[in-house]
Amino acid sequence: MTAGTMLYEGKAKKIFSTGDPDRVLQYFKDDATAFNAQKRGTIVEKGIINNKVSERLFRLLEQNGVPTHFVERKSDREMLTKKVAIVPVEVVVRNVVAGSLAKRLGLKEGDPIQPAIVEWYYKNDALGDPLIADEHIRLLKLATPEQMAEIKRLALKTNGLLQPFFAERRMILVDFKLEFGLHHGQLILADEISPDTCRFWDQTTKESMDKDRFRKDLGRIEEAYQEVLKRVCG
Ligand code: UDP
Repeated sequence: MTAGTMLYEGKAKKIFSTGDPDRVLQYFKDDATAFNAQKRGTIVEKGIINNKVSERLFRLLEQNGVPTHFVERKSDREMLTKKVAIVPVEVVVRNVVAGSLAKRLGLKEGDPIQPAIVEWYYKNDALGDPLIADEHIRLLKLATPEQMAEIKRLALKTNGLLQPFFAERRMILVDFKLEFGLHHGQLILADEISPDTCRFWDQTTKESMDKDRFRKDLGRIEEAYQEVLKRVCG
């Protein structure tokens, strides 16, 4: 597929225009960043893996009533998607204590969270993506209360579909981050769902199979990403 002009370059993806004003092309890079881009590196073939894993998960969600921006995977690293206006709120769903939640509240890593919780982070690199409350979303006019209620409903529905999907593949879905966009007035799931944006632990060994291996220098990063691809798409 011939890509048009580059509309945006993020840390892990580039977005290109296409001949259709309602469609854009997501190109998945191997570049990895952590800690608000203070740590940078490359994970070999990460772009291919994230593209394929996202495709599989977007298809699963679409088939079960969660609208997504996914249209078609065009190549190893390219995905055709609906053009959306991204809601600048990162939506985190948590099933198990890990990462910033353990640090912020002094909770023990690995403790189950039942029922799952949903958190909002303001998508703003200059501010370091701070945790925000519904009132801040209203104050900043990032989305309406009705839109946030719909986002929460879709995020929990997504969790309800992904948790058993990963359990069947001997993986614990610890937490994950979603981004939503507006497409002709409808809220749909956008961005990607991949080992970059989720925490997965192997059910038996409890080993990380995601970007935590890069964040924490745990080694065998590529192997972990390949294993996720095998279990999800193999
Ligand atoms: N996450 C993400 N992008 C971000 C921040 C977090 O995809 O900019 C994902 C992260 O991979 C994890 C979940 O959101 O699956 C929760 O991350 P957390 O708040 O614990 O922050 P972290 O420990 O990653 O800094």
